[in-house]
Amino acid sequence: MKTFILGDWLYKGLGGAALVAAAAFSALVFFCTESPLLRVGTLVFLLLILGIQFSLVLFLRRRILLFTEEINAVIDSIVNGEAPPAAQVETETLGGKLQYKLKRLHAVISSGRGRIEEEKQALQEMVSDISHQVKTPVANLKIYNSTLLQHRLPKEKQQEFLELMETQIDKLDFLMQSMVKMSRLETGVIALSPKPAALYDTIGLALTGIVLPAEQKGITVEVSCPQALAAPHDRKWTAEALFNLLDNAVKYTPAGGRITVTAEAWETVTKITVADTGRGIPEGHIAQIFKRFYREPEVHGTEGVGLGLFLSREIISKQGGYIQVKSQPGKGSTFSVFLPNA
Ligand code: ADP
Repeated sequence: MKTFILGDWLYKGLGGAALVAAAAFSALVFFCTESPLLRVGTLVFLLLILGIQFSLVLFLRRRILLFTEEINAVIDSIVNGEAPPAAQVETETLGGKLQYKLKRLHAVISSGRGRIEEEKQALQEMVSDISHQVKTPVANLKIYNSTLLQHRLPKEKQQEFLELMETQIDKLDFLMQSMVKMSRLETGVIALSPKPAALYDTIGLALTGIVLPAEQKGITVEVSCPQALAAPHDRKWTAEALFNLLDNAVKYTPAGGRITVTAEAWETVTKITVADTGRGIPEGHIAQIFKRFYREPEVHGTEGVGLGLFLSREIISKQGGYIQVKSQPGKGSTFSVFLPNA
């Protein structure tokens, strides 16, 4: 704006000086000459200068008006959340520069609005997913409970119903815990803080949750990880992500199978692999398995809610890493976690 005001003063100063000089010159000629023709000439000259000055002022006012209208239109569209009117942006002029900057501002505001809209949409989807997921165990619990209350069942039947109820309560509990983790991660309440640490301990922490179920199923677990191997990661959350992969490996591998965990450092990333000899995943399902609440139709008989892989991917990507899957139906799956080395 400073340039504009300066330019404005320059215009006024120069214009005024020219007018004064022209008036002084005309007066000098007018009073010093005897010739009536010259006197009329000076008067015409003075009127001409005045006319030029006047048109210049009108021209400037018009330009300022146009400039203000253009900027006004851009600001109006920004306020109303619309795209700014397409105007020829000459970046060399002040108006052009201002319009260009306002357009940039509009783009920044619009992308912010878009992000908020996307987050709102994701939250709505999550709420509807959650209510859908919670419905089944709650409905089952109601049925089991009212059956127990209304019918005099023999002791063994009662026990059977109570066990069924426990399964549903476990499912609800697991759902709720996953939901809390998910929302804490998504809302940024929990910021992952990757620090250089030994992966051996993190893998060990993840394994503690599956050692028993693997043993009960007769699944062999092999681990190969150099003790000194370190990479920046958030221990607690990375262990949670690895646990989800290991838990799936146990769930979807038949008795007598094998799970192999390996960790190795590459040039820019550290790779942790969880491979199993389980049922495998068909090519067509690979893109879906990381989606919230997705479960393959074939595994509905196995316990699960479809949040494990979603959470694992969130945890790893929040640390700048990614997860890759390779699988052969009937032969097994390999989930590889890549964590950046710096
Ligand atoms: P959940 O295991 O609770 O169903 P996940 O999000 O952990 O949910 O996994 C999503 C789906 O991906 C599973 O339902 C299953 O169909 C498939 N899946 C995941 N891991 C494996 C695996 N190791 N072997 C075979 N299928 C798997």
